[in-house]
This record gives sequence, structure tokens and C-alpha cells, in this order.
Amino acid sequence: MARVTEDEVRNALQGVIDPQSGKSIMDQDMVQGLVVKDGNVGFVMEVPAERGQELEPVRQKAEAAVKALSGVLSVTAVMTAHKAAGAGAAPKQDGAAPQAKQAGEKAGVDNIPGIKHIVAVASGKGGVGKSTTAVNLALALAGLGQKVALLDADIYGPSAPRLLDLKGKPETDGKKLWPKEAYGIKAMSIGLLIEEDQPMVWRGPMVQSALEQMLRQVEWGEIDVMIIDMPPGTGDAQLTLTQRAPLAGAVIVSTPQDLSLIDARKGLNMFKKVDVPILGIIENMSYFTCPHCGGRTDVFAHGGAHAEADSLGVPFLGEIPLDIKIRETSDGGHPIVVSDPDGPHAASYRSIAAAVLERIEGTQRTAPRIVIQ
Ligand code: ADP
Repeated sequence: MARVTEDEVRNALQGVIDPQSGKSIMDQDMVQGLVVKDGNVGFVMEVPAERGQELEPVRQKAEAAVKALSGVLSVTAVMTAHKAAGAGAAPKQDGAAPQAKQAGEKAGVDNIPGIKHIVAVASGKGGVGKSTTAVNLALALAGLGQKVALLDADIYGPSAPRLLDLKGKPETDGKKLWPKEAYGIKAMSIGLLIEEDQPMVWRGPMVQSALEQMLRQVEWGEIDVMIIDMPPGTGDAQLTLTQRAPLAGAVIVSTPQDLSLIDARKGLNMFKKVDVPILGIIENMSYFTCPHCGGRTDVFAHGGAHAEADSLGVPFLGEIPLDIKIRETSDGGHPIVVSDPDGPHAASYRSIAAAVLERIEGTQRTAPRIVIQ
């Protein structure tokens, strides 16, 4: 079966009408970041904040219109709201580079006052140790003298409360939320905002508003680096987060197994499509350290992530072994970087943190100012 083309998708969306104006959603530049790949279609419907609810049926119509085309395997339409004042700010897409202007700082997503750099930690699938890596990386950055925040946006399995032993609801004055503090870093988790036992079915607009709240309504103060623990995978929730946060770059966590590398590649592609720089890949559970003899075994095909990073032309940031101590310390709320700061694993996380820092500072370095006295 022939796969659907971008033009066919655009034509279908042309027929979806905003009832308020009577105009097509395409003509109103509501459709942004259209991605058409192997029959899978994704796009963002950017709408004024106050019209979010009212336009949900239109989002559904848009999704259905694309789904009805032949050669479509999946459709993900995510609705995001923008402030009415900046309504004209979303850049018009051109056919040659439909996604290039979507993300982060380049798309005019407002920077967050006081926060210098935001780095997403992502993975193509769950269970690869993304959260463990995100938390230890955040703590390692703090160990390098940075003011650090951790934003746990993993809607499927928020783990910062467990990893950093955070308890209780965040304090609030009804408008702002105050982050928790642990081991010298500030932290906020989606897990602190929702009831623990309540299953949540997240839809695009909810993900977006939860993220916006955690990004912009939390009193973060002055922060050098914010680490966002992303939900695993590359679906609509991830796309929304990628497009709504002013990201300096993304770090991909992968285990060495082939399967997860295929997933890692999907993660890479997602960020590339929306023009977020890939800071590099971290290989987690890279090899096994025997708790009895300290000997090393390559359980999975060790080195897969490094080779993959080389072949994809993205930096390899480092490897972390599969070590029971990493699991026990994380699950006990005392991540290894702070519970064994002089050990080899803390050193590995610090060297990864230094590499990340070098890259984000490199990406935003401006020309030196010449001072004439
Ligand atoms: P993800 O965020 O990718 O779903 P987690 O960080 O929650 O993964 O890790 C999944 C499980 O694997 C946790 O129990 C965690 O403690 C454990 N884990 C993660 N990285 C390592 C590692 N390098 N060595 C041992 N256990 C690890």
C-alpha cells in the first residue's frame, strides 16, 4: 500500500474548519510541526489558550480526517495552547522544512526567566534507566557547582519522589508552586501533583497544561541547568513536551541491546525533526559488575550504543554499568552520586555531566565582548 504523502495530509486538514471563524485550520496556521513518516502522521494544533477546550472536537475532526486517508497507519494530533498576546509569533511553515522552526528556543517558545539551560533526558522505551540517569546526572551537575533543577515529567511513571525521597504535596499560594529540595537540587514531579493511586489517562492538552504548570508556575529561582525527565517513547506526550519547553538539547539514554537502540533512534529522530540539538547518547546497564567479586561481564552486547552513536554522528557521552548498587541506592532515595560520591559510578556520572555542560555552553556561547579601557 502506498504511504500517505505530506501534501495529502495537508489537503485533508484544509477541509477541517474552525467553527468560530468559518476558516480552515490550515489557513489559520493552527497546524504546526507536521511530521509524515512511513504512514505515521503527527502534528500540533496550536490554539489560543482560552479556546483549548472548545477546539477539542476540531482536533478530533482533524485527526479523523487524516486517519481516513489511505496509507495512514497512525495519527497523533496534539493540541497546545499559546498566549493570545503572542498569537502571531508561530512561524509559518514552508514546504521545504516543515518542522524546522518548531522547537525550543528557535520556535519562540518563551524562555523561563531565571533558567539558563533546559536539557531533556529521553529514551525510546521504558525501563532503560532513564529516570535513574536523569537524577544522577542532575546531582552530578550540582556536584560540578551548577544550580540544578530536576523536572520529572514522566507522566507514565513519575519516579523523582522515590529517587529523591520527596514527600507531600508542593507548597502553594494558590498561584505559584514551590519546588521541593533534595541533596542541593530543586525538584518538581508530576507524581507530586496527582493522586498516587489514581490511574490517569493523559490527553494532549492535559499533558501540555501539566508541563506548562511545572515549567512556568513553579518558583524555580535562579537555575543554571534544568533536567527534564521525559516520558519514555516518542508518542504525542513526548512531542508536546519537546515542543513546549525551550530546550537547549536532549540526552538519549539507551541500553546496549539492539531493540532499545532502534527505539533510541526513534528518540533521536523526534528531537532532530523539531530541531532540538542532540547532546549525546548515554549507554546505561552497559556491562555487569558482579556484586561478589567485582568482576565485569558484558551481559548485553556492550558497546552497542557507542557504535550506534558513531554511526549516527551524535556524541557518545559515556557508559554506566548494570550494578546492583545503582538500583539499591536509587530505589532507597539516595542516588549513588550522593551516597557514594567518591566511587567509580559517581565519577562516571560526573564525567557525563561535564560533557553535557560543555555542549550546552558551547551551543549558546556568544562572541566575547571586547572591553576597551
Ligand atoms: P526508566 O526511567 O527508563 O523507566 P528507571 O530509571 O526507573 O528506568 O530504571 C528501571 C529500574 O532499573 C529501576 O529499578 C532502577 O533502579 C534500575 N536501574 C537503572 N539503571 C541501573 C543501573 N545502571 N544498574 C542497576 N540498576 C539500574
